[in-house]
Amino acid sequence: MKTICVVGTGYVGLVTGTCFAELGNTVTCLDIVAEKIARLRAGELPIFEPGLEPLVQRNVEAGRLRFTTEYAEALAGADYVFIAVNTPTVANGAGADMQYVESAARSIAQHLTHPAIVINKSTMPVGSGDLVSTILREHQRDTSLHIPVVSNPEFLREGSAVEDFLRPDRVVLGSVDRAAAEQVADIYLPLRAPIVITDLYTAEMIKYASNAFLATKISFINEIARICDRLGADVKEVAAGMGYDRRIGRAFLDAGLGYGGSCFPKDVKALAHMADEAGLHPQLLDAVMKINHDQRHVVIDKLAAELGGPESLRGKRIGVLGLAFKDNTDDMRDAPALDIVTWLLEAGAQVRVYDPVAMETAKHLHPGWRVAYCADEYDCAAGCDGVVVVTEWKQFRRLNFSRLRDAMKPGAGGPVLIDGRNLFEATEMQRIGFRYHGIGRGEARRNGNGNGNSHGDARHESRPTNANGAKTRAAQPLPGMQQ
Ligand code: NAD
Repeated sequence: MKTICVVGTGYVGLVTGTCFAELGNTVTCLDIVAEKIARLRAGELPIFEPGLEPLVQRNVEAGRLRFTTEYAEALAGADYVFIAVNTPTVANGAGADMQYVESAARSIAQHLTHPAIVINKSTMPVGSGDLVSTILREHQRDTSLHIPVVSNPEFLREGSAVEDFLRPDRVVLGSVDRAAAEQVADIYLPLRAPIVITDLYTAEMIKYASNAFLATKISFINEIARICDRLGADVKEVAAGMGYDRRIGRAFLDAGLGYGGSCFPKDVKALAHMADEAGLHPQLLDAVMKINHDQRHVVIDKLAAELGGPESLRGKRIGVLGLAFKDNTDDMRDAPALDIVTWLLEAGAQVRVYDPVAMETAKHLHPGWRVAYCADEYDCAAGCDGVVVVTEWKQFRRLNFSRLRDAMKPGAGGPVLIDGRNLFEATEMQRIGFRYHGIGRGEARRNGNGNGNSHGDARHESRPTNANGAKTRAAQPLPGMQQ
């Protein structure tokens, strides 16, 4: 069994360290945020991740998992040093901010007193392996030490991170030092997953290309959803019908509010930026990002249209169900809810919110948000003119809809329910008495509006056409509409 140090104890670092301990290795997780480490030492998890807490507890008790803020302590005797720090988008830019990686690499070099393999698990732009090698070499205490660098991108998903780590589709390793990559492969052997060994740049690119492809699938189905809405087709059925084709696959074909979170938005942006820097024009990636941004606005458009037009949100009470960027996480980095709540507030709505686990994150991220944090879904809907479902939490599927309807303001034709994640069936919601809209369900045409527009969409989309017959921009865009 090996000794492993994981630098950066966030969603990826904590899961990586804990799972390697579970496989029998001795692991020390390090972070520079003392409060995070103190909480972990006290047996408290700083993040919400299903299944992680008992695993941390078991491995701490077995003496295989430790937490520290001290590099010297964390690196003592380590055969493998994983860098799992954050690589967000640079402020006011598009590329990845490498300052945390650079700082971690410097600290590793300054404290390492024996040979070890440094493994880049953070998502880093193509060529970053060279950067880390250079930093290690320049700051190494003992210049005779051999410290190879291996890229080992992570593919886990928040919400199912433990399962994803322990049962990965594949493990990708890339290095200029093939022997070092093979040594890293050794610690993954118990997972019995396919191991792909490549050169350094290729491994780094596999991560970006994978995330960009999945983001493209999401934007693709969202574009199809918009067309479905107009033409009267149901995007859920379309996705199911497409998904049986093994060349296509059903995964990531759920129309909704688009992708969010800590990875897809920043990674697609960073890949497009790399292409730009290389003198290319990444047209597909640009379109994927544009569709994704606009998709968040669809629920605002549908809501405003049902309530009487773009100005109608002023003074209205709107409930937002779900804040996290997806279910089973408290992570709100680049969550659609951030834009949607902000646009509703800008439009003058009174906003009530509820999320099963992410409300503390929201309070921390947006201390100034003038929203009512609610006890549950029914409290969130209380007195509301409209409710918008933003996150696909499973518990939202099991709501008592009559109770939800009764909690809301009655409104002519029933209270408005906008289902941004297509969790519910239109006919059932209409039977209960909601004015219901999903995403791309083509309800409009099937409800008898021959031109394919719903009552609401017709109002919002009654725009002039340009010379090519394309719709021109709305005269009065709603807050947040991309110009
Ligand atoms: P995170 O923000 O949750 O965690 C990063 C941690 O690194 C933080 O706790 C931070 O305090 C710590 N840190 C920063 N600088 C440090 C330093 N110099 N020394 C020690 N610790 C330091 O980030 P995350 O979501 O775990 O993501 C980490 C990396 O993994 C990113 O590059 C991300 O793109 C990639 N990734 C994330 C996911 C995901 O689902 N979150 C999935 C795959 C890949």
